[in-house]
Amino acid sequence: MYTQVADRVHRLTNGIANFYLIEEAGKLVLVDAGTPKDWAMFGQAVQALGHRVEDLDAVLLTHAHADHTGFAEQARTTAGARVWVHEADEEMARTGKAAASNEAGVTSYLLKGQLYKTFWVLARGGATKIIPIRELSTFGDGETIDVPGQPRVLHAPGHTAGSAVLLVPGRSALFAGDVLCTHNPLTGRIGPQIMPSGLNRDTQQAMRSLDNLSGVKADALLAGHGDPWTGGVGEAIRLAKAAGPS
Ligand SMILES: [Zn+2]
Ligand SMILES: [Zn+2]
Repeated sequence: MYTQVADRVHRLTNGIANFYLIEEAGKLVLVDAGTPKDWAMFGQAVQALGHRVEDLDAVLLTHAHADHTGFAEQARTTAGARVWVHEADEEMARTGKAAASNEAGVTSYLLKGQLYKTFWVLARGGATKIIPIRELSTFGDGETIDVPGQPRVLHAPGHTAGSAVLLVPGRSALFAGDVLCTHNPLTGRIGPQIMPSGLNRDTQQAMRSLDNLSGVKADALLAGHGDPWTGGVGEAIRLAKAAGPS
């Protein structure tokens, strides 16, 4: 149901999209919020960790895609958690409407079996569209977010305009969202790489944004899709550049 991936950091997954629970001084912070139906999995993990849902202080969204905004609105209304997103993705999270269409459709991936598995899991979880989040707090590049764990924001646009990674230095954990993944949700390829072009607003920008992460030190790179990467951030960037767009 959940696995510890760094000091008091737990990975939850629906098999396609990951989200992460950070424990800090009796409080909880979520990085991303899975699909809407992952609310139940979240509740079970909270209970198993000896917490209550009301301990949830904040939901930090790496970007405003439906497989990451998931149950954020429910967490806000039920647990009273504040929901945070980069200012450039705020409108998409608030309205549920995509700001711009992706550069490539997904039709070129139709021969890949992984595509069907991804869409099946996300549809079953209710993540075919964003559930609008009525009240949002925003963060910008370089900011330290004033929530337990004090995550620092690095803006890395391309996958969406407001895509960001969050560094929690005290845990040596980098939450990469969809800036870097280790499992391609359309092709099934494993290893550090940017997201497939069919899901990106601007793939060339996503590739350039990898440089925004250079110099970051973290033992665990925790992606939105795929297993944790522990081979260093610099090596992940090098491999993602070598892999190129997909
Ligand atoms: Zn995404
Ligand atoms: Zn995603």
